[in-house]
Amino acid sequence: MRKKIVAGNWKMNKTASETKGLIDALKNQLNPSDVEVMIAPTFVNLHAAVQQTNDSHIEVIAQNMHQAESGAYTGEISAAMLKDIGVETVIIGHSERRAYFGETDAILAEKTKAALDNGLRVVFCFGEELADRQSEKHFELVASQLKNALFTLPSSAWNNIVLAYEPVWAIGTGETASPEQAQEMHAFIRTTLAAAYDDALAQEVSILYGGSVKPANAEEIFGKADVDGGLIGGAALNADDFNAIVTANK
Ligand code: PEP
Repeated sequence: MRKKIVAGNWKMNKTASETKGLIDALKNQLNPSDVEVMIAPTFVNLHAAVQQTNDSHIEVIAQNMHQAESGAYTGEISAAMLKDIGVETVIIGHSERRAYFGETDAILAEKTKAALDNGLRVVFCFGEELADRQSEKHFELVASQLKNALFTLPSSAWNNIVLAYEPVWAIGTGETASPEQAQEMHAFIRTTLAAAYDDALAQEVSILYGGSVKPANAEEIFGKADVDGGLIGGAALNADDFNAIVTANK
C-alpha cells in the first residue's frame, strides 16, 4: 500500500555510542504520525538499534545485503542474518554501492529477489548521473534501471518494494532536484510501472525522492503529488533536521 515514508541512510557514520545517542534523541523528538520512519545505521550497530527502537515507531533497516543465502563471501551479510536480528527492510541499489562496489543492475536484481524471498521489504534506489540528464537520457536510464532489476518480479512482489529515486548529481552535493523535476520523474516512474504491470499497482507503490533533502526544502518536495517521502543522507545524522523533515511529510 502507498505510504508516506521518511528513511534516513546513515551510511558509514556513527559509532555504537553515537548511534545510541542519536536514536535516543530521535525517540524523544519524533511524534507518532502516519509517516513511516526508518533509520539505517551501519551493520555493526543494527542489532542494538533494533532493540533500542522496539518500544518506538522507528523502524531500523539495513543499508545493503549480499544476494547469496550463505557461504564463502568474506565480509558480507545475508538476508537471513538481517531477519534473525529483527530487521525487516533493506536498502538495495544505492548509488554509492553501484559506483564504488560495482553493483550492476543484474546483481541488484539478484539482491532484490534474495531479499524478497527471505521476507524482507526492499527500498530500491536508482537514478541518473549528471551526464545522463545533460544529454537528456535520464528518463531512458531510469526506465532501464527499473526494467533490468525489477520488472521480471511478479506483481505480488511489489507489496514489499519501495522505490527511491535518487539523482546521483543531487546526492551529498547540496544540489537538489527542483520539486518540479522530482515530480516529473516520479510521474514518469509511475507511468513506467503502469506500462510494465498495471495502473492500480503503479498507484500503490511508494516512491521516495533522495538527494540533498533538508528541512528547508522538504515540504515543497514532499508536497508534490507523486512524491511519497524521502531517503535522507546527511540531514538524517542530526536529530533536529531529521525530525523537521519527517514533520514536513504531511
Ligand atoms: C543518499 O545518500 O541517499 C542521500 C540522499 O544523501 P543526501 O541526503 O546527503 O544527499
